[in-house]
Amino acid sequence: MSTATESQLIAPHGGELVDRTGDRPENLDSFDLVALTPRELADLDMLASGALSPLTGFMGREDYERVVDEMRLAGGLAWALPVCLAVQAAPAGDRVALADERGRTLGVLDVEEVFEYDKEREAERCFRTTDANHPGVARLYRQPDLYVGGQVTVFDRLEPAFPELHRDPAATRALFAERGWKRVVGFQTRNPIHRAHEYLTKCALETVDGLLIHPLVGETKSDDVPAAVRVQAYEVLVENYYPEDRVVVSAFPAAMRYAGPREAIWHAICRKNYGCSHFIVGRDHAGVGSYYGSYDAQLVFDEFEPHELDVEPMFFEHSFWCRACNQMASPKTCPHEGDERVFLSGTQVRELLGRGQLPPAEFTRPEVAQVLIEAYRS
Ligand SMILES: [Zn+2]
Repeated sequence: MSTATESQLIAPHGGELVDRTGDRPENLDSFDLVALTPRELADLDMLASGALSPLTGFMGREDYERVVDEMRLAGGLAWALPVCLAVQAAPAGDRVALADERGRTLGVLDVEEVFEYDKEREAERCFRTTDANHPGVARLYRQPDLYVGGQVTVFDRLEPAFPELHRDPAATRALFAERGWKRVVGFQTRNPIHRAHEYLTKCALETVDGLLIHPLVGETKSDDVPAAVRVQAYEVLVENYYPEDRVVVSAFPAAMRYAGPREAIWHAICRKNYGCSHFIVGRDHAGVGSYYGSYDAQLVFDEFEPHELDVEPMFFEHSFWCRACNQMASPKTCPHEGDERVFLSGTQVRELLGRGQLPPAEFTRPEVAQVLIEAYRS
């Protein structure tokens, strides 16, 4: 096998990896200050690192409108979700300082335009619902009424939640190239990895060079399993059950939007920027409650020509251990039904773990279960 160079990896979305890091301006104190929400801060950091290439800042009206309507940027490039900064009032100057919720300045935005937007329309188009009980819609409705668009420059990066797992797109690309990988599959997750996820990541890995396990560690709903517990679970799983030289575990710093189908596209494009040629899309990707059909996040890929995304989605069914097949399988590969299939609901798993009991080894690896049991105890 020849040594892969970085140029053999998939190109970033739009062709070039964006870098919006830069120097702190000397007259920073003279600018209006905008405090960003956790979601906006996560977006800002991803703009800085190129994870949102080709975006160089928060969206202006033309990009925003076409993304909401057609899942394309103004120039026609595929893009699934708004990346916008909401403000109470139009800033006074042509530059604003961007701060976290405690007032620490991280970057600046060169104001190109300030525009009104229709929250219900954005909700309906992007979340497929205007129901304020949907966590993504609720957050949208709470935002101020104007968007400010313009290029950003970030001089102070966010503290990564897991420094040992922090890798910008340039760093994952360099690592993949160093390992000689060309075809890399990305796996998005915000849950502990049970046998079913292990199975589909391994099925995918059988056909490519490497696997990026890329857990989302940005803001999630408070009832999702805490990121620290999940990270520990991924570590014990990889240590015990994956070949070290075929897998990278790294943190994906995005905040969850719970936009289901559109978020699946958005996740795939981001992973392309990290160097993934393939992306796993299971059932119910990035969904919440019963707002989306089980296959909606797979079907939405049909709204793009294959060359538009470039990154190849890999679709998977729910999988399970089948006692008759005596192996992991899915409805696609196993003819048996009912009791032969070891399946536990999320609630059943939580009840077992809460009582300090290991779920069946066919469902969860014991090392992973142990991590989860300890988390439930504390
Ligand atoms: Zn079977």
